[in-house]
Amino acid sequence: MGWWRRRRRARVMGRPFPESWGEILRRNVPFSEKLPVDDRRELEGLIQVFLDEKHFEGAGGLRMTDEIRVTVAAHACLLLLHRETELYPRMSSIIVYPRPYRARQQRRGPAGTVEEGTEIRFGESSTRGAVVLAWDAVRAIATDPHGCGNVVVHEFVHQLDAEDGHVEGTPPLPGSLVATWAQVLGDEFESLREEIARGVATLIGAYGASSPAEFFAVATECFFMRPRAMRRRHPELYDALASYYRQDPAAWPGPASR
Ligand SMILES: [Zn+2]
Repeated sequence: MGWWRRRRRARVMGRPFPESWGEILRRNVPFSEKLPVDDRRELEGLIQVFLDEKHFEGAGGLRMTDEIRVTVAAHACLLLLHRETELYPRMSSIIVYPRPYRARQQRRGPAGTVEEGTEIRFGESSTRGAVVLAWDAVRAIATDPHGCGNVVVHEFVHQLDAEDGHVEGTPPLPGSLVATWAQVLGDEFESLREEIARGVATLIGAYGASSPAEFFAVATECFFMRPRAMRRRHPELYDALASYYRQDPAAWPGPASR
């Protein structure tokens, strides 16, 4: 990162966090209230830089507001706390639809044929610099106290995963974590696939069984949304993710059941 950008970032991070944005966090971003004070401050700084550098665009008739921008930025920046990392360097724009939207989809048929169709989406992450989200689904994160889902976290995990040029379930890792990551996430992915195939109810969402990249994204959602349940039921996976994210959300205050 160049000198000018570093200087600008330092200045933007040091700005006081607007009171109205604090209100938005209280309303839409439940974890922000649970973070230790230093983390909360770091998050507020990251949110300001994120909003300074990334471009937001409304689609499907959505009018962009501070509420949408701050809410999305907060969930995205949660993944960056404590880490010496760039701020989603491959991504420059966030496109937001008012509600789940229809997107073109190619499906491979059994004989290798490609079928064209459409499907309903809540969000997606492209390797060409954009994340797309449905605002309805983003707002639902705060209103479902038992939910495990977090569409913003999900799509931004794909961005972290893409930082080395491949979306395959392994982001750039510190050397000390490479072997553990491959083993623990590989094993947990296989056991999730088996459990889903047997029809067992799982803590980690079934969509995580579709590929290692989706497993990383869905497991991260669970790590931040149901941290205590994950630590109890998947302690090795919890530890691997805690090492990568350098956070221990199971220690956040809150109802013991989560
Ligand atoms: Zn995904």
